[in-house]
Amino acid sequence: MTVEQAKMDARKWMAQADGVMAATYKRTPVVFSRGSGCTLWDTEGRSYLDFVAGIAVCNLGHAHPAVSNALSEQARTLVHVSNLYYTIPQTELASWLVDHSFGDKVFFCNSGAEANEAAIKLARKYFKDRAEPDRYRIISMIQSFHGRTLGTLSATGQDKIKQGFSPILEGFDFVPFNDIQAIRDKISVSTCAILLEPVQGEGGIRSADPEFLQEVRRLCDETGTLLIFDEIQTGIGRTGKLFAYEHFGIEPDIMTLAKALANGLPIGAMLAKESVAAAFVPGSHASTFGGTPLVTAVSLCVLKTLDQEDIIGHCAEVGRYFKERLVELKSRHDSVVDVRGLGLLLGMELNTDGLPLVQACLEKGFVINCVQGNTLRFVPPLIVQKAEIDRLIHCLDGIL
Ligand SMILES: *Cc1c(COP(=O)(O)O)cnc(C)c1O
Repeated sequence: MTVEQAKMDARKWMAQADGVMAATYKRTPVVFSRGSGCTLWDTEGRSYLDFVAGIAVCNLGHAHPAVSNALSEQARTLVHVSNLYYTIPQTELASWLVDHSFGDKVFFCNSGAEANEAAIKLARKYFKDRAEPDRYRIISMIQSFHGRTLGTLSATGQDKIKQGFSPILEGFDFVPFNDIQAIRDKISVSTCAILLEPVQGEGGIRSADPEFLQEVRRLCDETGTLLIFDEIQTGIGRTGKLFAYEHFGIEPDIMTLAKALANGLPIGAMLAKESVAAAFVPGSHASTFGGTPLVTAVSLCVLKTLDQEDIIGHCAEVGRYFKERLVELKSRHDSVVDVRGLGLLLGMELNTDGLPLVQACLEKGFVINCVQGNTLRFVPPLIVQKAEIDRLIHCLDGIL
């Protein structure tokens, strides 16, 4: 195929997609067809360095041989049977998560939103069982993001996510992130839980202050309120620790995971302490596909690979390097107003619209993304090398 034909072919696919797909995404005009490590190729054969990783999903990069092998081997063995029965990969994955976290019990589902739905239901049921039926309200943070189902968009602290879907679920109170006094003012006898992301992702890559989280934990202990961490974006090594809560010297009572848990296969998980998880009994909650042998075998392989190759240690190291290089850019360019984040969950806030930069990077062979209109988000595979980071920094320097 000539270059001209390949271009026309790509345009044809994009037009066809726009004709038949619900218009829920404003897509960047590129058709990706293949990936390996941190590199993606489009249908025209152009290569790109990927600093999005499917939005903090493909932590081991694309087509990682161990992951591909685990996937094809399990696909030939057993894909699905239903949670009416026991399977080994699901049991092994749950055991791994319990062994490596504060959690005692795991519930599997298929997405981040579903994991948060499970957490909200568990927090409500926990107090129903303790004969406190009116204790159902959840304090959530302004600028948070917890998902797109009716329950989780109701828990999300951004009006634009809720627009057009009223009436939304009742029972959520919102306070500014990192404002302990606002939580003290809002918490009441009807509060069952406090829900937050240790680092807000979609909200602009904003970290919790350690003192804030420690105070939140203390307040929860004093009042018997449950603490729920949404680690859907921050979990699985992204911040340079397996879970972001490890940075803060505290533990939640409930934690939700998804995104990177199976490197791109759909999976969600909710972990909880024993005493809390006990509120879920047969019939309380369920998921047909939750934790199939296929996704859990892949997830187990992902977690073991992270461990064996010390990829989280690598993430912490290159994340520090990446952040330093972004801070250098800030010192050279007035349009950069802030650099934030932990590990390889990094954001660079601009005083202008970020989309033209995303577009310009794409034309130069770099995939990056933008949140909140003006904050570039960098969430590459955790295996990214310093030389690849240097190439992106050079490109951004030129464009800025
Ligand atoms: C992506 C994300 C979600 C939603 O996950 P889905 O799999 O898209 O439902 C929820 N919370 C956070 C923090 C996220 O980053």
